[in-house]
Parts: sequence; C-alpha cells; structure tokens
Amino acid sequence: MVEETRGACGSRSCAGGVDRPGRSWQPCLVNLRLGLEIADTDAEGPGRRYAIWTQGCPLRCHGCCNPELLRSEGGYETTPAEVLERIETAQRVHAIVGVSLLGGEPTAQAEGLAQVARGAQARGLDVMLYTGFEVPELQARGDPGVTALLDASDLVVDGPYDRTRPDTKRRWIGSTNQRLHVLSGRYQASDPCFTEPDTIEIRLRKDELLVNGRPWGRGMP
Ligand code: SF4
Repeated sequence: MVEETRGACGSRSCAGGVDRPGRSWQPCLVNLRLGLEIADTDAEGPGRRYAIWTQGCPLRCHGCCNPELLRSEGGYETTPAEVLERIETAQRVHAIVGVSLLGGEPTAQAEGLAQVARGAQARGLDVMLYTGFEVPELQARGDPGVTALLDASDLVVDGPYDRTRPDTKRRWIGSTNQRLHVLSGRYQASDPCFTEPDTIEIRLRKDELLVNGRPWGRGMP
C-alpha cells in the first residue's frame, strides 16, 4: 500500500510545507498566475490590505468587472513564496492587516493560494477570499486545494457577479446575490465596516491607470 503524501496546502501532488527555524512554515513551490498585486489598498476589505488579483477565470458573469483577467494565458507567473515575501514587506512598510484574494477566479489556483493564505495567517494577517462559485458548491467538490483555501479564509464573498443587481448597501460586495461568509472569529457579520460606503482608489503605475475598489457598472464608466 502506498502512503499518501500531501503538502501543507492539502495538495496530493507535493510534500511541501516544511518547518524551518524562526518561521512557522515554509511553503512549497506551486506556480501562480496573477494579473495584479497591490501592496496597500483600503478598498478591498477591512483595513489596509495586500490585494492579489489572479489571472484566468472559467466563469463568464454578466457584466464581469475584470474582463482583462479572464484569459488564463495573460498576467505573470510567480510562486507562493515570492508572494509571501512581498506580503511580509507590505506588512513592515504599510502595516497591512490582511490579504484579499480576488479574480479572475482564485479557486482555480487554490493550491498555491492556500499556501499564500496560510502563510499570511501565520504572520497574523486575515484573509478575505472572493469567488464566483458558491461556498457549498466548492465544499462539495472535495478538492483538497479548494478545501485548504477555504479553511485558510476568514471572510469569503461568494457567487457570480451580476451587474443587473448592484449591491448599494454592503461594502466590498458587487451584487445582491453574492453572500458574505464570516468563517472565523476575527470579524462579526454585524461589524459596521461591512455597511460603510464603498470607496475607489485610482493610482498611476508606470504608464497604467489602475482603478480598484468598486465594480464597473455601479455608476462607473
Ligand atoms: S468570477 Fe469574477 S472574473 Fe470571473 S467572470 Fe465573474 S466577475 Fe468576472
């Protein structure tokens, strides 16, 4: 009988996740394909956060707010270890309190993002996950990487974005069909932060104008 080996992320394809002195956990190497990272945003979840937009999405929501992130070939490759290094720097420089995982579809890269999420939590940060799938559907898959990612998430916003049903009451949530799941004791669903007005951020990075914090279709061009 062959003994099954799994990494700390829950993956059956690696045995990563070894302990190392002074650090609680060293992630194994699973490549990620990302579209964008912002080291310090106040518009993608509670408090100042590190935001990660994954590249590639199998869904096609009506009025998708990030069409440039749909193609799985775009973006750039990186690893969970590299992302965690950047998160650590942001924690030191920007005093971030959490990490937001957005898409694209983060659960399409669940193994690698589970490593990022666990690493972030090990550094005292909370994790907020956005997914176009519904949580029960993800749980029913029985995919170890997806399960590990959900287990390492404090907040989950689930369900496909529907531009025809804009949510004007809840902060950080695009449409009324989407649900906020509070999966840990770090936050309460009744926390006023979830009903404060939405904000947007506009920044110039090299020759690109980046706008984040509010889905297109809620009064934006
Ligand atoms: S899940 Fe997000 S990226 Fe994917 S189609 Fe829906 S809105 Fe677009």
